[in-house]
Amino acid sequence: MTYRNFCWPVLCSLLTETQEEHGMNDNFHVVTSACIGTKDTACARVCPVSCFYDAGEMLMIHPGECIGCGLCVPECPVSAILPHEEVPENEHEYIGRAERFFAELPQAQAEAIRVNP
Ligand code: SF4
Ligand code: SF4
Repeated sequence: MTYRNFCWPVLCSLLTETQEEHGMNDNFHVVTSACIGTKDTACARVCPVSCFYDAGEMLMIHPGECIGCGLCVPECPVSAILPHEEVPENEHEYIGRAERFFAELPQAQAEAIRVNP
């Protein structure tokens, strides 16, 4: 069994537990590393549920609010946004980053960093 074959089921089962725990949409999208240094908010302008947040060096999508419509994907000039299931292995840390960011974000601060262009 390769490392990849071993790792995927473990990662998927952890992700499924987290999705169930936080009420995530099955098709939530993820902002990956290419946003860093670009962050032009083109994506947020088309999001029908305003689920992009300013996470400092990059924008992040709230996994529990994203409805998986995909409208933001072609708007990104650096192809940083992907459905979570299509995020390549070398970018998987950005799935966990978003999950931790929103789990730790106090509700009172969330509206202040929601991107509403
Ligand atoms: S369009 Fe792409 S690069 Fe621009 S803020 Fe959104 S995710 Fe980042
Ligand atoms: S997939 Fe749709 S709902 Fe999710 S962040 Fe993109 S535009 Fe918003």
